[in-house]
Amino acid sequence: MACQIEAARPASRPHHQPLPPSLSWVEEELEALATAELLRPRRLRTGRQAGTVSLDGRSLVNCGANDYLGYAGDPRLVKAAAKGACSEGAGAGASPLVSGHSQIHEALAVSLAGLLGSDDALIFPSGYAANTATIAALAGPGDLIVSDARNHASIIDGCRLSRAEVAIYPHRDVAAAAILLTASTARRRLLVTDSLFSMDGTIAPLDDLATLATETGSMLLVDEAHATGLFGARGSGLVEAAGVEAAVPIRIGTLSKALGSAGGFVAGHRRLMEFLRHRARAWMFSTAHPPAAAAAARQAIDLIAAEPHRRQELNARAAVFRQRLTDAGLAIGNAAAQIVPVIVGEPGRAMAAAAALAEAGFFVPAIRPPSVPEGESLLRVSLSWLHDDETLERLASAIIDHVR
Ligand SMILES: *Cc1c(COP(=O)(O)O)cnc(C)c1O
Repeated sequence: MACQIEAARPASRPHHQPLPPSLSWVEEELEALATAELLRPRRLRTGRQAGTVSLDGRSLVNCGANDYLGYAGDPRLVKAAAKGACSEGAGAGASPLVSGHSQIHEALAVSLAGLLGSDDALIFPSGYAANTATIAALAGPGDLIVSDARNHASIIDGCRLSRAEVAIYPHRDVAAAAILLTASTARRRLLVTDSLFSMDGTIAPLDDLATLATETGSMLLVDEAHATGLFGARGSGLVEAAGVEAAVPIRIGTLSKALGSAGGFVAGHRRLMEFLRHRARAWMFSTAHPPAAAAAARQAIDLIAAEPHRRQELNARAAVFRQRLTDAGLAIGNAAAQIVPVIVGEPGRAMAAAAALAEAGFFVPAIRPPSVPEGESLLRVSLSWLHDDETLERLASAIIDHVR
């Protein structure tokens, strides 16, 4: 099967119609966003995600994808996806509960369980769905969820959906989490955290959180979305790297970031997975993950095992890059991995810095509220194995020139 980059059939949008009167408020909301410099640009990508990316016709060094290992555009994944679609079709056709769970999904679940060293895994159409469905299944009215202040939006939404009581502790503050859990008389207690925080590049104190969960008899759920494929001897994530697998009974991850495909998963005990098959609503009431995506993800898991040098090299280069920015006096918070935020403060400043970096040939997205709190707008640099030392040095110099 040929695997060439061809332009998609050109599309032109239809002429705009006026907003119906019942939606006139939408105009006001959009104007308010524009005034606050919070409008999100539309960007059109041509071709694949790679070390450079073509956005709106400009070719830029790509520091704005979660394709940390360079697998999203890898021909080996593309071919696996094509074979998966040939065998099982373009769509799964039904929820996994009915007839959507296919041989490819079964094989992927086994591969995931192997990667994570867990009993079993359940696959979702996205990591977002995995979080919302799992959290809402684990806790309900009368239960307590204790959640880090910087947890991902999909965790926040899962907490809301659960209708459990939700208590937020300051970022990575285990002592504060301990007070919340110890004081509680809830039926069930769930402690939930990202392992690598998506906007801050910080790492959760997994060792202490695991001890706390064990001591208080709380369930511990760790979301490894940005860490799956990147840390630990097997490459399963930071839970493995921290040596606390036995104390983390619920691990969530995504197939959409370092694994270069799409979809999400939860991994854990076979009986917990059986329970989730009956209670995780986004799994039960949504069409199964497309077979092509499952086949590509399975190929990526094989590559994680075969190419550990990619994660090792990325982690080493990221350390050099962070040091370079810190030495130049830039504020990168407590970033400790391949996600490096450069904190600038106001949204307008972040936009101006991103525009200047684009002029210099780098795509570095500006992150503004509500993705980060007010006054903490930042440039989010996502490093990839596809960036070599020389490119990272040029990137660091450009950031130092344009942000200081
Ligand atoms: C991206 C992300 C998700 C969602 O994963 P998708 O597969 O993109 O839906 C969940 N949790 C965290 C921490 C993330 O960064």
